[in-house]
Amino acid sequence: MTDCIFCKMASGEITPDTIYEDDDVLAFRDLHPQAPTHVLVIPKRHVSTLNDLDADSAGLAGKLLLAAAKVADREGIAEQGYRTVINCNTAGGQTVFHLHLHLLGGRPMHWPPG
Ligand code: AMP
Ligand code: ZN
Repeated sequence: MTDCIFCKMASGEITPDTIYEDDDVLAFRDLHPQAPTHVLVIPKRHVSTLNDLDADSAGLAGKLLLAAAKVADREGIAEQGYRTVINCNTAGGQTVFHLHLHLLGGRPMHWPPG
C-alpha cells in the first residue's frame, strides 16, 4: 500500500524508532505515547484491520503477541504487567488502517478504558 504510513515504516521508506524487528513484524515507539512504554507492533505486510485477518494471515496475530511479550521483557515491564490493545475501525478508535497492536506499560492501567 503506497500511501500507508506503517507500510512505509515496514519498507524502510520512513524510519521509526524501532525496538524489535523480525521477518514478519516490526515494533516501534508510538509518536504520542499514552504510557511510559507505548510501543506499536505491526505486521510487515499490509492488513487493514483485525476484520481482515483470515485463515492464511491468522498466524500473524500470534506473531504480534509474541513480539509484544518479547518487547515487554526487553522494556523491563513483563513482571509488573502491561496491556495490549488492538483498535478495530472507527468506533474501536482505529486511526491508522494498518493492523497494529499497542503495548502499554510502565504505569498502572485502568479498567475499563475510556
Ligand atoms: P490507532 O488509534 O489504534 O489507529 O493507533 C494509531 C497510533 O499510531 C496512535 O497511537 C498514533 O500516535 C500512532 N502513530 C501515528 N503516526 C505515527 C508515527 N509516524 N510514528 C509512530 N506512531 C504513530
Ligand atoms: Zn500498510
